[in-house]
Amino acid sequence: MILACLGRIVHDNDAESKLDDDVSTISKSLELQGSIESGDVSCSASASKDFGGLYSVKPLFLIKPSGAEDISRVVKFAARTSNLTVAARGNGHSINGQAMSDGGLVIDMRSTEESHFEFLTIDDSPHIDVSGGALWEDVLTQCVSRFGLAPRSWTDYLSLTVGGTLSNAGVSGQAFRYGPQTSNVTELEVVTGKGEITVCSETLNSELFFGVLGGLGQFGIITRARVKLQPAPDMVRWIRVVYSEFDEFTRDAEFLVTQEEGESFDYVEGFVFPNRDDLFDGWPSVPLDPVHEFSPGHIPQTAGSVLYSLELAFHYRNSDHPSTVDTVVSRLLGKLGFVEGLKSQVDVSYTEFLLRVKRAEEEARANGCWDRPHPWLNLFVSKSDIVKFDRTVFKTMLKDGVGGPMLVYPLLRSRWDNRSSVALPEGEIFYIVALLRFVPKGQSVEKSVAQNQEIVKWCTQEGLDFKLYLPHYQSIEDWKRHFGNQWSRFVDRKACFDPMAILAPGQNIFRKDPSSVIISRDL
Ligand code: FAD
Repeated sequence: MILACLGRIVHDNDAESKLDDDVSTISKSLELQGSIESGDVSCSASASKDFGGLYSVKPLFLIKPSGAEDISRVVKFAARTSNLTVAARGNGHSINGQAMSDGGLVIDMRSTEESHFEFLTIDDSPHIDVSGGALWEDVLTQCVSRFGLAPRSWTDYLSLTVGGTLSNAGVSGQAFRYGPQTSNVTELEVVTGKGEITVCSETLNSELFFGVLGGLGQFGIITRARVKLQPAPDMVRWIRVVYSEFDEFTRDAEFLVTQEEGESFDYVEGFVFPNRDDLFDGWPSVPLDPVHEFSPGHIPQTAGSVLYSLELAFHYRNSDHPSTVDTVVSRLLGKLGFVEGLKSQVDVSYTEFLLRVKRAEEEARANGCWDRPHPWLNLFVSKSDIVKFDRTVFKTMLKDGVGGPMLVYPLLRSRWDNRSSVALPEGEIFYIVALLRFVPKGQSVEKSVAQNQEIVKWCTQEGLDFKLYLPHYQSIEDWKRHFGNQWSRFVDRKACFDPMAILAPGQNIFRKDPSSVIISRDL
């Protein structure tokens, strides 16, 4: 009955007037606790867009589930059709349509957000169980504000969903110590591509657990995650220091990320910026405290087209004596070789520090550039190739900047679990490079996209040891190259957990086969 109804919607172009009736019929037949909207309804428009603003496709239905049971019903429903796919949509902060489904079913994971926040102590360690659709900023509120506890590993920006970042990795300035967010969860509840609700962990259904972590949504929809917690600090000393030479910048960054806890900062990131007097992205934009400007006289004459900044944070408690904090921070900074005089610092609350990008979002919304396209490019580049990358990409191709931050900082491979699905470069130290482009009004998005392609092409041609983070490819050959020797494991996991290729079609890896039995993409 449902399938007959669906067939009518899919095949009958005059069915628009019947759509509301059909939605209600399907909704009743599925016995959803949540709600369902047609893809035509204006409030579903968000499901056909994402933060990237580069792609737009219309789903058939937007489903707002109340929890895992609803999601399971929707996936099982799609499995009984020849053509329908299911995309979980976190907060739609993808760049290339990864959370979309063309003519399929989009599940709004945010509607499950409220349904689960639960504290637990396991082996004397605090954890929180959260919905896959919860925003990290809500996890912050629940944990830090209410209990003085915090996840160990964050993203820079917290209006991202737990399920969305765990499907990729979740990286920020704490990852050098604790690994990405995927290394900081101990249990997941997942709805697989067969519609089964399965609890998994390192020891229970471990293939599903590790497959889903960094699995680009291919093996299951995360409906609950158990996140490790630790005591949260009260305050953060937030510091930026500037380098004119890339080798000095990388030497200090690598030194900091390889030190023991207590011998380094609690957060280490870095960025590149054009060496020019530009309030938006030149050296005047770097100081954290606008009252204390950098004097350009400090920039060495030998400096090139770009400069580099290490961004650091030191955690402390309100009860710590200010002179103790000063002493420890001075000792740590004393080991670094940044340009004298080019240091800026502020003391902010831990929550204020974690919500720092939210402030940037508010500004970007106010000046209209938040809603414009964002052709972002994220890469992991091996330490062995980062100097070459700097010379050609940062110093030459991107010497005029990208209209937004250009992050570059080292991570340690040993903090990542190689059983997860994330693809990484070889070697212990690799750099995350994030080109967070904001395209000003009137400027060409195509030019930025073309420049991204040029960078990736150059990396490939030069044989750099690199991987795309938040990957996006058009061809199956590129996906195979991306996963390298992990490709067969990825395919095996797909065959096991989503054999009809129902999930996350927007990643453009597998295609649902009308014969309904086997995944295909010329495997
Ligand atoms: P979506 O974009 O909605 O979904 C991403 C993919 O995951 C899709 O394929 C979707 O189908 C799938 N998916 C979504 N929810 C689930 C679920 N519950 N279960 C299974 N699959 C699911 N990343 C970092 O690592 N560090 C950062 O500091 C960082 N900062 C960012 C700042 C901004 C402003 C933006 C826009 C992005 C940033 N990102 C960062 C990237 C971010 O991790 C990705 O956009 C990611 O996709 C999470 O976004 P989302 O929750 O909106 O997921």
